[in-house]
Amino acid sequence: MWENCMLSQWVTQIWEEVSGYDEKMNAIRTYQVCNVRKSNQNNWLRTDFIDRNGSIRVYVEIKFSVRDCSSLPNVLGSCKETFNLYYYEADSSSPWGTDTSWIKDSFVRVDTIAPDQSFKGIDMKGTQLKINKELRSFGPLTKRGFFLGFQDYGSCMSLIAVRVFYRKCLATVDNFATFPETMAGAEMTSLVVAHGACVENAEEKDMPIKLYCTGDGEWLVPIGSCMCRAGYAPEGGDVACTACPQGTFKPSPGDDQCQPCPLNSRTMGKAANSCKCRNGYYRGHQDPLNMPCTSPPSAPQDLIPGVNKTSLTLEWRPPRDTGGRDDILYNVICRRCSDTRRLSCDRCMQPVEFVPRLLGLTETQVFISGLRAHTPYTFEIQAVNGVSSLSKYPPQFIAVNITTNQAAPSQVSIIHHVSSTMNSIKLSWPQPEQPNGIILDYEVRYVEKDQAETNSSVINSHTNTVVVRGLKAATIYVFKVRARTEAGLGRFSSNMMFQTLTKEGVSSLREQIPLIAGSAAAGVVFIVVVAVIVIVCTAGNLPNGKTTLCIHHLPGHKIYIDPFTYEDPNEAVREFAKEIDVSGVKIEQVIGAGEFGEVCSGRLKLPGKREMSVAIKTLKAGYTDSIMGQFDHPNVIHLEGVVTKSRPVMIITEYMENGSLDSFLRQNDGQFTVIQLVGMLRGIAAGMKYLADMSYVHRDLAARNILVNSNLVCKVSDFGLSRFLEEDTSDPTYTSAMGGKIPIRWTAPEAIQYRKFTTASDVWSYGIVMWEVMSYGERPYWDMSNQDVINAIEQDYRLPAPMDCPAALHQLMLDSWQKERAERPKFGQIVNTLDKLIRTPASLKTVACVTPGISQPLLDRTLPDVTSFATVDEWLDAIKMGRYKENFANAGFSSFDVVSRMTAEDILRIGVTLAGHQKKILNSIQTMRVQMNQIQTVQV
Ligand code: AMP
Repeated sequence: MWENCMLSQWVTQIWEEVSGYDEKMNAIRTYQVCNVRKSNQNNWLRTDFIDRNGSIRVYVEIKFSVRDCSSLPNVLGSCKETFNLYYYEADSSSPWGTDTSWIKDSFVRVDTIAPDQSFKGIDMKGTQLKINKELRSFGPLTKRGFFLGFQDYGSCMSLIAVRVFYRKCLATVDNFATFPETMAGAEMTSLVVAHGACVENAEEKDMPIKLYCTGDGEWLVPIGSCMCRAGYAPEGGDVACTACPQGTFKPSPGDDQCQPCPLNSRTMGKAANSCKCRNGYYRGHQDPLNMPCTSPPSAPQDLIPGVNKTSLTLEWRPPRDTGGRDDILYNVICRRCSDTRRLSCDRCMQPVEFVPRLLGLTETQVFISGLRAHTPYTFEIQAVNGVSSLSKYPPQFIAVNITTNQAAPSQVSIIHHVSSTMNSIKLSWPQPEQPNGIILDYEVRYVEKDQAETNSSVINSHTNTVVVRGLKAATIYVFKVRARTEAGLGRFSSNMMFQTLTKEGVSSLREQIPLIAGSAAAGVVFIVVVAVIVIVCTAGNLPNGKTTLCIHHLPGHKIYIDPFTYEDPNEAVREFAKEIDVSGVKIEQVIGAGEFGEVCSGRLKLPGKREMSVAIKTLKAGYTDSIMGQFDHPNVIHLEGVVTKSRPVMIITEYMENGSLDSFLRQNDGQFTVIQLVGMLRGIAAGMKYLADMSYVHRDLAARNILVNSNLVCKVSDFGLSRFLEEDTSDPTYTSAMGGKIPIRWTAPEAIQYRKFTTASDVWSYGIVMWEVMSYGERPYWDMSNQDVINAIEQDYRLPAPMDCPAALHQLMLDSWQKERAERPKFGQIVNTLDKLIRTPASLKTVACVTPGISQPLLDRTLPDVTSFATVDEWLDAIKMGRYKENFANAGFSSFDVVSRMTAEDILRIGVTLAGHQKKILNSIQTMRVQMNQIQTVQV
């Protein structure tokens, strides 16, 4: 940048100001000096003060002419053809006052300046005048300004013009940033940095933007850049950003231009960074902003079912309207109906299986198996796509009604021998793996060995046990069993042979009882009444090639005996439990921690048997579990054997895939039908009946001590441990009492008060287990203290019916919580009652509301009071549906007001697909409405 600077008045006597002409004959004023004939000249000419205006380096351009010394006569020796340029920095315009002695000493010399050409004579017309032009610079300058000085030391010259200037970079706009005017640096090579500020509606790209100003006063290329914000686009190159007009958008910052809104969307004003979808159209979570808005698909078309017994293939065609998307998936909704009019249909539960899967199908067909035989079903195929969850309407679907074909139950796998007398044999068997409906009864067929099948007799049993009477003594009989449902009879089990007792066998039993009592005389507590007959089965070939031959050994040899009646309880272990060689045991992983050691899952390979899954308890010390070696019942955990000859001592039982009942129920909250729950309770009652029949008192019957296998069969477990719990156990379930620890919430009052543990106190505990099962693992009496529980029971308060609990079941609970233990039902009666309920499912339809009987219910705590929660999340946690927090929040159900207005469809639409959970949430919403109404009434 050039800037003219007015020269101030010269301060001199020798230099004189004269008029003349330049080379173009323009009239000019110059300063001249020509003292060439005198030697030792030192003539100074000085400018006025020149403000440096912030510049650091100053440039001086001098126009001058010099007379050639050789053209002047008599000047040899004193005549010069050069002069000196000086400067002096100062903060004021009169740093010296009147003192002029400063001149030589305080000025800084810039250069000695020589002409490129001198001239020989002055032609008054100026034609021979030779004008020189020289440029010099100096710096860095730090004071306010400076003076220039010209020193003549004996030349004949004239100063025609002096131009003083500095260089700077001008304020500019570059890359959407403004830069201020910036002075060039002190040296020609200096670079001075200038920081830019983004223009309006622009933002920095990734680093602060800057420009360098060179010594020449030129900007270099910028470093970094700004860019227009989302909703704004560049205008006029890179100097401004203007708002996108209505109907257009720009999604992200950058140099892109605004683009028109995609199909089915619009903007409400200018500067939009996205377009809003029109009503009924949505943008999926993953959809880019420039993609058209889309809608949920219409219903699938042409649903064709293909029923094959209890399986079904469904095929359909894609929807007519895909909603503008290509991410269509299909969901199958299966409902089982209780009658062909389909007035009451419930979501299908296990064991119905869907191949490839139930939800999110990409293909247009599904294979469904495990349906109930001869049962009406409704199937809906929903079409959904990436925006279905955003629509407030449920997905569109096509439905079909089908009825499955008849199918009989599967084969009964095995018959267990329970006991024999001289003229009767008691048998039991597990339910077939696939009942294909409710089992109405079992057909037991038997015939004396070696008799023709045509001579066989038939007995029907409503349960899975039977006592076959009227048999001959000491005779082998061949038995087989099959189940019957509405669909017909299943396949028979294979033939099994069992023998009745001989007269001698019975008398030898009688003789042995005093013997055993005598051998335990040192500490006899208890003698058992029921004899269990040991049978050893060996394979034998019978006409149909399938029969198993079972031969009875000394009958009446083993009876239930408390191992603590033995002087050395280890002897009891050896007596009751089979010793297993540790080499056949493979521990795989730890699955739990028991009272006395760890519980592991693993494999057991016994010689001549198939390898099987087992649970292995390693014991720090103990033998009590071996009691179960005396038990053989489908609802009592089965002991495979023990390892006592090596350490650690191990107790090996059958493997129960679903672990303990309490945690299993909590994990599957709301997911079973009432019939399934009653089926579980029936199993537990049957196991307890068996134990009671053997005069075994469990003392710690609770859902945590019931194990569940993969077929949902429940088995009683944990024998006798509670009696021997150490005093220092830290488990708060068990409270210290004289002579041991007692699980207060599960225990009958007489057992708490004076340790009267009987089968009737086990019945009380069974009632609590019923309550645990029907409430899916809720803690009995919730967070009440043990003392409060004891007091409440004493005052005749009893637990209320869990949510949706059939009245008949709650009545059974209340019966088992009778204060008078003699009035409580026996386990046999409980089994019968439950069997009756299972046979007549209609009896389970009445849900308990008002608690009948003399007992008063405790305050029903199953549905918490909505007023005690601040947020919907807290409420969901309280009703144990916390897993759906996100579903509620994402769909906008975040206040009690909107939640209280939710419908069953809303609940399904936000992704609660399990029928039990839907029901629980709906019930809780119902309660919420009542509670909210009460609040409003109070407020009014
Ligand atoms: P326990 O010492 O019997 O109370 O067992 C502790 C935990 O180990 C139980 O809560 C079960 O989860 C697990 N467990 C015990 N026995 C078995 C079994 N036979 N099969 C599978 N899991 C078992």
